[in-house]
Amino acid sequence: MPEMSAAPERPCLSCGTALRHTFVDLGMSPLCESFVPAERLNQMEPFYPLRVYVCDDCFLVQLEEFVSPKEIFTEYAYFSSYSDSWVEHMRGYADLVTERLGLDERSFVVELASNDGYLLQHFVRKQIPVLGIEPAANVARVAIDKGIPTRVAFFGEALAHQLVAEGRRADLICGANVLAQVPRPNDFVAGIRVLLRPRGVVTIEFPHLMKLMAGNQFDTIYHEHFSYFSFLSAEALFARHGLTLFDVEELPTHGGSLRIYARRAEDDSKPVTDRAHRLRERELEAGLLQLETYAGFAEQVRETKRKLLEFLIAAKRAGKRVAGYGAPGKGNTLLNYCGIGTDFVDFTVDRSPYKQGKYLPGTRIPIFAPHQLQEARPDYVLILPWNLKEEIVAQLAEVRSWGGRFVVPIPEVTIL
Ligand SMILES: [Zn+2]
Repeated sequence: MPEMSAAPERPCLSCGTALRHTFVDLGMSPLCESFVPAERLNQMEPFYPLRVYVCDDCFLVQLEEFVSPKEIFTEYAYFSSYSDSWVEHMRGYADLVTERLGLDERSFVVELASNDGYLLQHFVRKQIPVLGIEPAANVARVAIDKGIPTRVAFFGEALAHQLVAEGRRADLICGANVLAQVPRPNDFVAGIRVLLRPRGVVTIEFPHLMKLMAGNQFDTIYHEHFSYFSFLSAEALFARHGLTLFDVEELPTHGGSLRIYARRAEDDSKPVTDRAHRLRERELEAGLLQLETYAGFAEQVRETKRKLLEFLIAAKRAGKRVAGYGAPGKGNTLLNYCGIGTDFVDFTVDRSPYKQGKYLPGTRIPIFAPHQLQEARPDYVLILPWNLKEEIVAQLAEVRSWGGRFVVPIPEVTIL
């Protein structure tokens, strides 16, 4: 059983201010990566509150921590290399940052949460020395077998000091999709500061809170993601540890992400770019430092639920059959929050053999291989990874041949 912890008044993960304001309450939900095997179908599974707060001081949007990261990440089912588009995205990054920072065989690159080596392999090919830090032993093993030096550990200040004592300091520290998963962001960023060479650069990618709110992407909230950062809340966190955000890129990944560039505050060789200033201004204009901006989100989420249920109820009353496509974490948040089980969605399909034959956590919707769609010929295919909808609609063109239609649930239910 995952460890439980509860406290009546919680401090902000970033600045320590007591959390008083709920951003959105998604009810009780199981861990979104805990797929249920057939032999456990008749057993109970743990549900945890999925309640999100916003700090009224630094405006970090964050979850209460109910499950320890060791439970979630020590044996992890997510292998980055399974996604072709993600590996391609990171290849582009490796080329860009190598050129921009002039990295070569004398440099040292450290990736935090290096997964199966999907990124570092590109640096290794360029003869640039690397080290991956990855807490999930099963995933790290894949990287080590590919010849990518990897340490099985959680990153923080203690590990950074240890590496420095071994004479290792980084010219580039990078991390994609790790900042949100860190339960103690101050320890994490303090470690970055320790490990970074005086003129080194940090790049961190994370889903952009402003896009989450504008796109109504509440299903990207799950227990594995403790924090939801804006540029402004990330800037406050990094500044606390003597690091300045001097550049930022806006990326289309995960429904809209930021890649921030940080350096030591005293390193004046890298001036703050116009695009960093402009994004900062846009977030201020969008009201991201005002509590009222956050207050309307919860009702927007409830209305999305009502619209999706309305569509499904009407479809079922008309005798239509609905199947899902994909079994992503976001699908599990959506289905559990909306209370959608096999009463609405007969089954879903997923390309990952790891998930096929299992059931979605909580809703217990069965997961089959994609060919099941051709056999069942459902009237509607509900696309759960809506961020990949163009790719999926193109792959599944055959669905149209029997009159099937595609439906996306976010930002609001839409028949394509
Ligand atoms: Zn705060």
